[in-house]
Amino acid sequence: MSSPASNLRIDSDRLWSTLTETAAFGATAKGGLCRLALSEEDAQVRRWFVAACEAAGCTVRADELGSLYARREGTDPTLAPIAIGSHLDTQPTGGRFDGILGVLAGLELIRTLNDAGLVTRHPIEIVDWTNEEGARFAPAMLASGVFAGAFDADYARTRTDRDGVSFADALNAIGFAGPAPARGAPPAAYFELHIEQGPVLEDAGVEIGVVTGVQGVRWLDVTVSGQACHAGTTPMALRRDPLQGAARLAAVVDTIGRSEPGVSLSTVGVFEAFPGSRNTVPETVRMTVDLRHPGPGGLDRLEGALRVNAAAIASDLGLDIDIAEVWTSPPVVFDPACVGAVHQTVARLGFTHQDIISGAGHDAVYVSRVAPAAMIFTPCEGGISHNEAENMTPAQAAAGADVLLHAVLAFDALS
Ligand SMILES: [Zn+2]
Repeated sequence: MSSPASNLRIDSDRLWSTLTETAAFGATAKGGLCRLALSEEDAQVRRWFVAACEAAGCTVRADELGSLYARREGTDPTLAPIAIGSHLDTQPTGGRFDGILGVLAGLELIRTLNDAGLVTRHPIEIVDWTNEEGARFAPAMLASGVFAGAFDADYARTRTDRDGVSFADALNAIGFAGPAPARGAPPAAYFELHIEQGPVLEDAGVEIGVVTGVQGVRWLDVTVSGQACHAGTTPMALRRDPLQGAARLAAVVDTIGRSEPGVSLSTVGVFEAFPGSRNTVPETVRMTVDLRHPGPGGLDRLEGALRVNAAAIASDLGLDIDIAEVWTSPPVVFDPACVGAVHQTVARLGFTHQDIISGAGHDAVYVSRVAPAAMIFTPCEGGISHNEAENMTPAQAAAGADVLLHAVLAFDALS
């Protein structure tokens, strides 16, 4: 393919300087960011973003949950926009790239098109989704979830932070509530550039991850019940010790995670014995199980194996084992046309690449429910993220932004 646009590249220095400049908003002493959703620091970066997008010729609107949409018109007013999004909020001890790269690469894309005098057929909208992290208001990906119909707007507005401040009050305090409904019209396509937040791409020495989907997650609460008794007077043969059952089950969880190497994951993150006394056999043990699998039916298979083993352990040790589902996020398979646009692009631009399944949740998970979507990953140093030490090189950021630019242009040309 050769067109006036095919040799176009984003301005790496300009992209890096926007990443550096905006990292002043919520900067921490250790070089990271604390920019909780709807905080004053979030307001500062939002004001910067709105001004920069308007200076680049975009019109910017906020929806009722404060998500920002910076729009550059296309040549065909009948077409829905191609949306490019991520988030500008961070974890309390977050890094300078998680989410931010995806939004600022969108701005850089528009500046690059402006410089080249190129206008796409579709309008382009850069989206900053409110409260992606979930660090201040749970759950995560709240505004993109409302956009896709997973939650309603009132549910989002009534979430409260640790101090009891509601999402609605925090949003009003920074003045970023707009009139438009948060459940918006679906875009023609959605592309999200993000750091990988894991070590796979860096380990493999590749420049770009073509994200084909997002793995499913299931959270279970497990309660193992036995009988409390005196540690010094109860013969071993007469005990119904829930901790011994829970320990066996925890080992099973690890085995289940290893059952499909490179595919399945399972974790016990919380393990608590009650009443918690050194000379008493516990009455109950509670543990959490986090299961991850990218394929259809995978989470059910892992949970099924857990339940079969739990039943055997319960009967062996005379215990009751209750397993309750807390939350499931089904696996996501991204749109073949959008993933195809990314594949074509990395090959044509000559970047080393591999397919990858996202281990973390992103706004694209929800947006993919209402629009064709895909993601692009870049490596980050040591795979470290949700950490003030999060880092990447200017070349890695530029590679991701160039792939984003050309994937958008490829989709614009075809659809
Ligand atoms: Zn993120």
